[in-house]
Amino acid sequence: MQTQLLRANDPEAIKTAARILQDGGLVGMPTETVYGLAANALNGKAVARIFAAKGRPMDNPLIVHISEFDQIYPLVQSVPEAAGRLAERFWPGPLTIILPKSGIIPDEVSAGLPTVAVRFPSHPVARALITAAGLPLAAPSANLSGSPSPTTAEHVMNDLSGKIEAVLDGGACGVGVESTVVTLAADPPRLLRPGGVTLEQLREVLGNVALDPAVLHPLADGVRAASPGMKYKHYSPKANVIILDGSFEAYKTYVNSHAAPDVAALCYNGENTGLAVPAVCYGGERDCGEQARELFDALRKLDEMKAKTVYARCPEPKGVGLAVYNRLIRAAGFEVLRLE
Ligand code: AMP
Ligand code: MG
Repeated sequence: MQTQLLRANDPEAIKTAARILQDGGLVGMPTETVYGLAANALNGKAVARIFAAKGRPMDNPLIVHISEFDQIYPLVQSVPEAAGRLAERFWPGPLTIILPKSGIIPDEVSAGLPTVAVRFPSHPVARALITAAGLPLAAPSANLSGSPSPTTAEHVMNDLSGKIEAVLDGGACGVGVESTVVTLAADPPRLLRPGGVTLEQLREVLGNVALDPAVLHPLADGVRAASPGMKYKHYSPKANVIILDGSFEAYKTYVNSHAAPDVAALCYNGENTGLAVPAVCYGGERDCGEQARELFDALRKLDEMKAKTVYARCPEPKGVGLAVYNRLIRAAGFEVLRLE
């Protein structure tokens, strides 16, 4: 199959993409978080094709995207008052809410769970596409399973060209990491995946919000993942990533004493000049928003450089930095070295 690359600013592009979705096809679409791989959420066969194209394990459920708040009602059993408060503050935006699902959600979407994840994205192209298709759209990140999530249409083409009908190019994503996932099907509500909406902000609206242990730690043997996506080695470049936790001085000393032909650094802006190995920067040390925006592109660049070992600076796990840290420790298979 030849994948069409559609420019979102072409007035025909949204119509073409909407028709593909109505016919059971797959479209890579820009959102404010990362590019999503969309299909009609109410068509189990179309949704199954998402798993095949990505090589995604069938037990990892998808997020359903809507373009009006009221579109949530048919998808869930009921909309609790807490969901209304979250939506009021954070929708449209990078927050996914999990609730008990209604009967119209195919098992492929929820991967057999009794719940469904719903998000109302703010990206104008995503919203226009959902509205034009007239359908809720199931969409995980539009990458090959296991590789870093795509933040440009080019990333999507690199991973999925030939496997999906079209990619809608709407430029680079603003947030750069996947949505925050919170479940209201637990008491108290629980943060399953950190993202652009922070734990601190969720607590302002909901009061008590638990942090799922899988956000910061590998799952213990035999423990079931509350969010199945958190159990997989994720976001990984081909290189072996090792996070070095300490000051830049300590990082520099460590990296320069371990310099070798296949070694590279993943550091903050401006730090590359002090290093004896090739380096990719992923934002300013104090700018976790920029780190989130640049992390996945940086991981893909390290692959293009064919690095075998990557030493990464350690993000501060606060605010949006918690999302950056969560993605990077997965890319590193939880390997963090504390430097003195
Ligand atoms: P992706 O959009 O590729 O980042 O994947 C969606 C994420 O949402 C994965 O981590 C899933 O495990 C999670 N997710 C989706 N639906 C549910 C659900 N019903 N319960 C828990 N986690 C979910
Ligand atoms: Mg994903």
